[in-house]
Amino acid sequence: MKKRSVLHVDLDAFFVSVERVLDPSLCGKPVVVGGSSQQRGVVAAASYEARQYGVHSAMAMSQAMRLCPDLTRVSGTHKMYSRASRAVFRLLNGYTPIIEKVSIDEAYLDLTGTHHLFGDALDAANEMQRRVKEELRLDLSIGVSGNRLVSKVASAYAKPFGLCDVARGGEARFFAPLAVKKLPGIGPVTANKLRSLNIDCLGTLADAEKRFIEDTFGSHGAAMQRRARGECSVEVCPPGERSAPKSIGHEQTFANDIDDMKLLRGHIQLLLEHACSRMRSKTLAAKTLSLKVRFADFTTHTSDVSLSQHSDNEQRWLPQAVALLEKRLKHRSSVRLLGVRFTNFSSNYYQSSLFNIENEEQRARTAIADELREKYAGSSFKSGASLWVSD
Ligand SMILES: [Mg+2]
Repeated sequence: MKKRSVLHVDLDAFFVSVERVLDPSLCGKPVVVGGSSQQRGVVAAASYEARQYGVHSAMAMSQAMRLCPDLTRVSGTHKMYSRASRAVFRLLNGYTPIIEKVSIDEAYLDLTGTHHLFGDALDAANEMQRRVKEELRLDLSIGVSGNRLVSKVASAYAKPFGLCDVARGGEARFFAPLAVKKLPGIGPVTANKLRSLNIDCLGTLADAEKRFIEDTFGSHGAAMQRRARGECSVEVCPPGERSAPKSIGHEQTFANDIDDMKLLRGHIQLLLEHACSRMRSKTLAAKTLSLKVRFADFTTHTSDVSLSQHSDNEQRWLPQAVALLEKRLKHRSSVRLLGVRFTNFSSNYYQSSLFNIENEEQRARTAIADELREKYAGSSFKSGASLWVSD
């Protein structure tokens, strides 16, 4: 197999960095982007100054405020984040057509065979980092290696504003001293289990008896061990070449727990509208819907329903979702969080329904609704039951 040069690039504290470009007075201060604590908001991004207080993303805003009383909170300007992201990707596109965007601020680039244009991968990485800083005033961290797994770990290792190059053949040595949780795919549960077996770092995991790991972790034990050595054969795959996303969903935590069914129904409709609108923007239709309900006592339940045919239409899904909710609410009431998640996608749906006139009329109406929703930033365009829901 051809030896590859793969980069993982990741913008540092991206939302915060964009806010700082817009308002330089935020520089050097502990800053978070996210919803207000009165609205039970969560931290979407935290500056490195805020992280020193233990603040991190996905933390409740109220807790972040307690940890760091001097914290500056910014609500966030998503339009600007998209704009900044597009500018970064335009720049990166100049280096290779093989870019796999993982999120708004993160991507894999395959630079194999581009050395005659940009020098070796490390030179190209250095230049990208410098240009993103100079031209866009954003900090990019980069991992460089022969595969995406090692580059992903290397870019995290390099943060903030760093560059880490792992030489071919040095993958296992680079991984060996790192904590097991640094390996993508090892979550808190697996990390705890490994720790209970006295396996704290990736080197110990890599060197453990293969039979023992397989007995303990089943079939994915062997794969985990290979990854702990920095082995990975998954290639960088530009959009369109990989299959559709695995799921599309939305959830909402309420400012006050809700027990009014009419209001809950309205929220479900809103969540479905958002999720279906995203499905349509990706020309996908789903067959399965999961409803997540978290009650006031924090117990969380998830249940699924499947249709006989794929659909991207919220009206088609609403009765199903409401039925799931009613079943859940039988014995209890106060709801803290609702979420919907679509899975089981088909992307050929559009082609097959294009000749169905009835569908087409409905589709035209829905397209207008989507356009309005985008224009008025999500919440101001509502229909039916979601008119009940106040912002
Ligand atoms: Mg990032």
